[in-house]
Amino acid sequence: MSYKTNKIIIAIDGHSSCGKSTVAKEIAQKLNYIFIDSGAMYRAVTLYCLRNNLIDNGIVDIPNLMDNLGKIKVYFLYNPETRHNDIWLNGDNVENEIRLLAVSQNVSPVAAVAGVRHLLVDLQQEMGKSKEIVMDGRDIGTVVFPDAELKIFMTAKPDVRAKRRYDELTAKGEKVSYDEIMENIIERDRYDETRTESPLRKADDAIILDNSYMTREEQLQWILSRIEEI
Ligand code: C5P
Repeated sequence: MSYKTNKIIIAIDGHSSCGKSTVAKEIAQKLNYIFIDSGAMYRAVTLYCLRNNLIDNGIVDIPNLMDNLGKIKVYFLYNPETRHNDIWLNGDNVENEIRLLAVSQNVSPVAAVAGVRHLLVDLQQEMGKSKEIVMDGRDIGTVVFPDAELKIFMTAKPDVRAKRRYDELTAKGEKVSYDEIMENIIERDRYDETRTESPLRKADDAIILDNSYMTREEQLQWILSRIEEI
């Protein structure tokens, strides 16, 4: 069934690894909207930092990163094979590489750098100019699109999130342990919630979706019902 809506912006924020991008992508497909995974953009900048030795043991070399910011080109290009917009970094398709645990383990300190956030928020706001967009992240309803017509704050129990992420990474052949995934999820949430620059928090007008015990289809229907309401 295809849905017709007024042109709106849908902002989906929430905790790490609770399936925001999966459900956001499905909603965008149903509505024929653009889907943007803003986390992929922070991951791509992190990959740039890792490739260029701008981060060591979770400590970002901020002065050097700021000097190089103009050289970091992050953009999405349509992949006709997967029918998905892949993320590119300076001419490389990095869609797979940005999901590696090494990137997850370094992304939060990079995302806490004010200059990085300003660069990416500007790009994100540009993408939402004509509305008809579903964007997921941590600050979409609070900073990027504070006037979004629908704001959802997604969460799930940490053990449920760790199990889902563990299954996803091991299915791709990555050698990871459940414990290190759990640790990364908790650590990223803590970092994201306590940083000074745009901390992760629920927008006052966002509705909470706890999907600990929901299937993907149930989540999709839940969001579509909220869209119908507005
Ligand atoms: O969504 P994902 O888990 O891929 O995001 C990776 C990291 O990027 C988050 O842990 C967070 O530190 C950062 N992020 C952010 N703001 C966003 C999206 C992601 O700070 N809008």
